[in-house]
Amino acid sequence: MAELNLVLLGPPGSGKGTQGERLQEDLRLPYYATGDILRAAVRDETELGREAKQYMDRGDLVPDEVIVGVIGERIASPEARDGFILDGFPRTTPQAEALDAKLRELGRALTAVLLIDVTDDEVVRRLGGRRTCVEGGHVFHVEFNPPRTEGVCDIDGSELIVRDDDKPEVIRKRLETYHEKTEPLVDYYDRRSLLRRIDGAAAPEAVGDQIRRTLATLRLEQDEAV
Ligand code: AMP
Repeated sequence: MAELNLVLLGPPGSGKGTQGERLQEDLRLPYYATGDILRAAVRDETELGREAKQYMDRGDLVPDEVIVGVIGERIASPEARDGFILDGFPRTTPQAEALDAKLRELGRALTAVLLIDVTDDEVVRRLGGRRTCVEGGHVFHVEFNPPRTEGVCDIDGSELIVRDDDKPEVIRKRLETYHEKTEPLVDYYDRRSLLRRIDGAAAPEAVGDQIRRTLATLRLEQDEAV
């Protein structure tokens, strides 16, 4: 079967993480979420983490050259041979160009970019209520997915906190950054006929169904092209 090289695009809080994890199980492909990779680096106090933290805490993007190398290594690794799911990358036009260049070098290309579309108001509602566990990064929501005991992770019992970048002023900044730096990629990929739009306002299950239908169509198109 042809490889499946996917990008999940959309504002923070659009559900890319939730859908990415499901897709990873459905498709058995590696899932690379740059936000998770960077947060793990901050937790482990690696050089990457020390460099990224100051930007992340402000809701700014880390510099392109820092993140491009991290993702380039992963998509070139043997585990990504049959494809991959990228979440949170690319986030700027130079990152998209670097991804194109890396894939070209590997003799590969993107299969599709799934845009998960939600409004700014919905983003604020979703991210403002998000609680993340300090130990494993497990995510809950005060309204949509509350933990059994307030402030405690169901999975590992550690404390639930509001991530620095889920604080209201930082959410506003992240949205601004999305509109300014990342939204131009919608056009970038649309012009290359790679963009598939998904309505992210629906419940997670329904969004997952839309994605599955979109991927089924893509598979048919790939088969016809062979
Ligand atoms: P996320 O969990 O995807 O919202 O990412 C959290 C933070 O990590 C972002 O606000 C950025 O500071 C940083 N980050 C994640 N992915 C990227 C990227 N592709 N380029 C630059 N910064 C990123």
